[in-house]
Amino acid sequence: MPKLPKIAIVGRPNVGKSSLFNRICKTRIAIVDEAEGITRDRLYAESDHFGRRFEVIDTGGINPRSIAVFNELILRQAEIAIEEADSIIMVVDSKTGITDLDKDVAKVLHRTKKPLCLAVNKIDNLDNEGLIHEFHALGIEKIVAVSATQSWQIAELLEKALCDVPIQEEVEEEAPGIRVSIIGRANVGKSSLINYLLDENRCIVSPIPGTTRDSIDVTVTREGETYTLIDTAGIRRKGAEHEAVDKFAAIRTKKAIDRSDICLLMLDSQRGLTTQEKRIAKMIEDEGKGCIILFNKWDLVKGFRMEHCLKDVEDEVPFLKHCPKVMISALTGRNIDKIFPLIQECYAASKFRITTGELNKFIEGAIQRNHPPMLQGKRLRIYYMAQVGIQPPRFVMFVNYSNLMADSYQKYLYNQFREVFKFTGVPLNFHLRGKAKIGKEARLHEKSLSRDKRYEAEDVDVEEAEEEDPFDDEVFEEDSSVEE
Ligand code: GDP
Ligand code: GDP
Repeated sequence: MPKLPKIAIVGRPNVGKSSLFNRICKTRIAIVDEAEGITRDRLYAESDHFGRRFEVIDTGGINPRSIAVFNELILRQAEIAIEEADSIIMVVDSKTGITDLDKDVAKVLHRTKKPLCLAVNKIDNLDNEGLIHEFHALGIEKIVAVSATQSWQIAELLEKALCDVPIQEEVEEEAPGIRVSIIGRANVGKSSLINYLLDENRCIVSPIPGTTRDSIDVTVTREGETYTLIDTAGIRRKGAEHEAVDKFAAIRTKKAIDRSDICLLMLDSQRGLTTQEKRIAKMIEDEGKGCIILFNKWDLVKGFRMEHCLKDVEDEVPFLKHCPKVMISALTGRNIDKIFPLIQECYAASKFRITTGELNKFIEGAIQRNHPPMLQGKRLRIYYMAQVGIQPPRFVMFVNYSNLMADSYQKYLYNQFREVFKFTGVPLNFHLRGKAKIGKEARLHEKSLSRDKRYEAEDVDVEEAEEEDPFDDEVFEEDSSVEE
C-alpha cells in the first residue's frame, strides 16, 4: 500500500496551527484526550483533498515544562517537520505581521528541498487579503491567505501543499487487516502452514482475487482480528512449477515482502539458516518490515537444543536478535497458536511512536553513563533526537558534526536503545543530522548558510559537493558490523 503523503503544519504559537489542523481534518480531532495531549509532542490525523488522502501533522504541542529554551523548541519542531514531512505548511498570523521567531522558523525551513508553502492565517475578511504582501519577505514562494476559523481558502492551501508531492502508485486492491507473508526456501513448509491455518476451524477464510494474475491473498480472521496472508498462490504452487527459476522466486519473495506488514521467515529447524535465508532476512530488514522467525519441522528435531538454533541465527544476522522466534510444526500444529499474538506485538511495535521528550531523556542518560569519545580533538554533541517515521520507526539525531560519531559509540547507543525501547521484531533506522544551527550554535549555522551561498555563487553542483560535506546527513542502520 502506498504511504500517505505527510503534510506538517509548523509555526510559532498562537498563529492558528491547531485551528488549521482541525479544519483540514474536518473534525475537532486536535483536541484529543488530555493524556494524549500531554504525552505527545505532535498530533497526526488523516484527511483527504478531492479524493487524495494524506496525513497531517500538527507540530504545535510543545511542552512548556521543558527545560530547553522555548523558541528553541519551536525551531526544533521545524527541524523535525523537515525530516518527517513530504510537504510543509508554515503558518503566520496576518494580524501581528512578521515576528523575529517567524523569520527564524522560515530560515530553518528554507534548508529543505521539500515543498514549502506559507499560510497567512486569520484573514477573516476579504478586505484584509492585502495583508499577505508583507509576508513575501519570508521568501516562501507559495503563499495563501486563509482563515482557519472561517474555513476560507483551505482547499487552495492544500492544493498548493500537495501539488509538488509526487503521487505514489495505488495498488489495485487494499488488503484488509495486518498483511502477513510467509517467506522461506522451497520445502521448508510454507504451504503446509497455510493449509494448517486454512483447515483450522477457528479460521474464517475467504480468498480475495490478488493484484496480479497469479498471486492470491487470503484473509484469515482470528479472535476478532483480520489478517491477510500475502501471495498464497506462490506458496501453494507445487511440483515442477514450484518456484522453478531462482530468479523468479527471488522477485516473488521481494514483492511479497514489499506488500507485507509482517514477514514470517520460515526455516527448517534441521538445516538452520542458509545463505539464502540470510539474504531474505537482509531483504526484510532493508524493506523495514516486521519479522518473526518460525523454526518449522520441530517435530523432527532430536538431540540438539533450542538455544543452539537461536544462537546461530543471531550470530549470523544481528537484526534477527531482536525478532521473536517460535519453534513450530506445520504438520502437528505445535505452537502455531503462538504466531498470531506475536504478529500483533510486532505490528504494534512497527507503529509505535516515542515522544521527543522520552527520546531526549534516553539520550541524556546514555551520554551520562558513557561519554562520546574525543575524535580529532573534538567531542560529538547530541542536541536532541526525534522520531520522524513509523513502519519502520525512523529516528533522527541532531548532532554538531556527524563525522564525530565513532562506530563504537554508535553501537553503544543502538544497543542501549534496543534495551530500553525494544521494538520487538522491527528494524530501526537512525539518521544523523550534523548541522549546528540553533541557540548557541547560531554562529555555526551562519557558516553553513554561507556555505550554501558559496555553492550557488560558484555554481557548484550542490548534490555533488554535499557528498564530501562534513555537515551532511549520515545514516546508520543495523548492519552486520553492529555487535553487542
Ligand atoms: P496554535 O498555537 O498555532 O496552534 O494556534 P491556535 O490554533 O491555538 O489558535 C490561536 C488563537 O488564534 C485561538 O484563539 C484561535 O481561535 C485563533 N485563531 C485561529 N485561527 C484563526 C482565524 O482564522 N481567525 C481568527 N480571527 N482567529 C483565529
Ligand atoms: P514449501 O515448499 O515451503 O511450501 O513446503 P511444503 O509445505 O510443501 O513442505 C515440504 C515438505 O515438508 C512436505 O513434505 C511437508 O509434508 C513437510 N513438512 C512441512 N512442515 C512440516 C513439519 O512441521 N514437520 C514435518 N515432519 N514435515 C513437514
